[in-house]
Amino acid sequence: FTEEMARREAQRCLQCGCLGLSKCEYRELSIRYRINASRSPSGLRVPVDTSHPFIIVDPNKCVACERCSRTCEHQAIELTTSTEREDMDEVFLRINERCVSCGACVDACPTGALAKKSIMVPLPPGEARHVRTVCTYCGTGCSVNLLVKNGVILEARAESKDPPNNGDLCLKGRFGFSFYRHPDRLTMPLLRKHRDEPFRQVSWDEAIEYVAKEFQRVRERHGPDALGVLSSSRCENESNYLAQKFARAILGTNNIDNCARVCHAPSVSGLRIALGSGAATNPLHEIEGAEVLLVCGSNTTESHPVIGYKVKRAVKKGTRLIVIDPRRTELAAMADLWLNLKPGTNIPLLNAITHEILAKGLENKAFIRERTEGLDELREHLRDFAPDAVESGTGVPADMIRDAARMYAATRRGMILYGLGVTEHRAGTYGVMALANIALVTGNVGRSHAGICPLRGQNNVQGSCDMGALPYVYTGYQDVSDRDKREKLGRAWGCRLPGVPGLTEPQMYEAAVSGRFKGLYCIGYDPLQTQADTGRVKKAFERMDIVVVQDLFLTPTARMAHVVFPAACVYEKDGTYTNAERRIRRIRKAVEPPGQALPDWRIISLLATAMGARWEYAHPGEIMDEVARVTPSMAGVSYERLEDDGLVWPCPDEDHSGTPILHRDAFVRGKGRFTIIPDIPSQEQPDENYPLVLVTGRRLVHYNNGSMTRRCRGLMSLVPGEFLEIHPRDGARLGIRDEETVRVRSRRGSLKVRARLSERVRPGTTFMAFHFPDTLTNILTSPGLDEISLTPEYKVCAVAVDREIVQERQ
Ligand code: SF4
Repeated sequence: FTEEMARREAQRCLQCGCLGLSKCEYRELSIRYRINASRSPSGLRVPVDTSHPFIIVDPNKCVACERCSRTCEHQAIELTTSTEREDMDEVFLRINERCVSCGACVDACPTGALAKKSIMVPLPPGEARHVRTVCTYCGTGCSVNLLVKNGVILEARAESKDPPNNGDLCLKGRFGFSFYRHPDRLTMPLLRKHRDEPFRQVSWDEAIEYVAKEFQRVRERHGPDALGVLSSSRCENESNYLAQKFARAILGTNNIDNCARVCHAPSVSGLRIALGSGAATNPLHEIEGAEVLLVCGSNTTESHPVIGYKVKRAVKKGTRLIVIDPRRTELAAMADLWLNLKPGTNIPLLNAITHEILAKGLENKAFIRERTEGLDELREHLRDFAPDAVESGTGVPADMIRDAARMYAATRRGMILYGLGVTEHRAGTYGVMALANIALVTGNVGRSHAGICPLRGQNNVQGSCDMGALPYVYTGYQDVSDRDKREKLGRAWGCRLPGVPGLTEPQMYEAAVSGRFKGLYCIGYDPLQTQADTGRVKKAFERMDIVVVQDLFLTPTARMAHVVFPAACVYEKDGTYTNAERRIRRIRKAVEPPGQALPDWRIISLLATAMGARWEYAHPGEIMDEVARVTPSMAGVSYERLEDDGLVWPCPDEDHSGTPILHRDAFVRGKGRFTIIPDIPSQEQPDENYPLVLVTGRRLVHYNNGSMTRRCRGLMSLVPGEFLEIHPRDGARLGIRDEETVRVRSRRGSLKVRARLSERVRPGTTFMAFHFPDTLTNILTSPGLDEISLTPEYKVCAVAVDREIVQERQ
């Protein structure tokens, strides 16, 4: 390597500072293709743009390779970066207003033209440790590669080989990790004997001993069913397994539930009744390759952005898209058919689609004959659901219903994706079964690029249910009322187990208000912000003798506790999550927890041991080995086998490679069952006092109760507070202007919020998310519950909206 060669090499450097951890592909490529890269093609000095919360844009380093634009195209996002040439010497790199801040362009940029603000110090290659884990936000369960140095997470990236996201991430996955270092993190156990006292910091020994004694006292005085555990769809499988084992084997009750109760419990019940398994039937990558996608009650591009990219890519390649939603979501706007129904009318609409398929003879007769049961009764029931008969009730033109039925029935590669717009209704479980009817009647189950997939909201809502954190089943959905199963689990755990199904979460609150339920252990869950009708939940908490909360932050629920245990977050522990496609994957410890915070599984073990058990798990891998021993559908799962891309259950033995597609040859329950779906109206209808309907949901930038995303400064700068979407026509009628503060009232409470005039909502409906405790949306929401699973009816609540009169000072 001569001096001259070295000089030439050095000239290729743009001195961009190697902000991408010395990723300088540009240098390598310019050598390979003999490009003179001694200066920026623009030749200009253009100001560096630092206005984006996560991304620095330095057009001087742009080489017009257009990789950034192509990442937008790949994710089927309208171009958000652009390199504009006025002539060959002038190149400007910009991020435009359509940017969804996913950051893929930054990782694609081969120079420092696009760089992450989180990486301020250039590092040579190999300096940072790579830790492969799973995103902690939605149920897509994207694989994430964390780059860690000196105990600090510098960056999150995704590799194109890793499923299910294959290189894609949304802004929460790529940028939403800084909460782990927030000064609000709980670092010591907190204890107070009475709620009117302040918390004091105590040692683990004191906190554990106090809780053990209190639980024992309640059990002796009121019996084991006066106690219960709420586990978490945000915690890993191992903690959920121990939480339900703790309730059953230590407390002696089946009163164990988890926050799936507020989202996808109807999926577990509905799909189990119809197909025999309450889980998604097909892998997410099959979205691309479906001929028709039916997306029902899911704002996919905001709630599950990476699944949204897949849907948009599929549509770009020719997949037909039917969207059923009362809001004009991004997918609704691009759909072939958007069935813009009135909130609360899923059942008549879905029944009408099935009616039309049968009425026109479009059903898959061979499939129905060989693999299903109960069609005659359903056919009879559907007589009243002709498209013309439901048109005025649902607000969807009959012809559009007919078109949707024809489009869906014409394919053998039709996939149904649905979200909480189906489940969070009084008829939530029936809504799931109505979708299953459509899949069954067209034969779109048990094959590739077909099936029915609930899009799970929280990162491990699938896993928390799989682990038996439900009052009626053990791991792998083994019924607690089945004596053989009960005795088998009792032998494995060395105890006698209760045979009567326990209380669901809403039943625990009801029992607390009536004085029968006295003590709660609440792990990684914030019902006082996220449950519907939080006023009712608060009353229940006030009546309990002992409330123990385990979390990362002092949430509204933790503020109601007697004892608070500080927990480690996703980056600080080992374990596994199971995503929406049933894929179990490892999460791995990248950094140390703050102060004395401990992994959830460790805290539960300490408490069980203090109450007389000997839970001596040294590592969560040992817990997973125990799960495999007691769970036939997961008998082949072990950490060793989960090392790479994980396993998709059922995985019944060590030689089994997993089951990405369910019900291939037979349904788990034998035959697919058609279900008669009654039309159960929403609990509240608008009237003259409360003339508008409030629908609640999520926003792209935030997650759940917002305790993590609100503690990421960049995310907060994008969406700093809640707002009410209201149709301009309603706004004009009520004299409400854009960005004006309004008061929203329901029968249960009222709050102040900014109004935003938006045509995304139907006239007569409004929309809010629930990520901010200072705008407590759930103080408004309906006490209505799904009749089967008791999931709250978040999607329909009658409200009134008024201009907020600002009182002038006297
Ligand atoms: Fe995380 Fe969901 Fe975004 Fe994937 S789509 S990065 S899992 S929040």
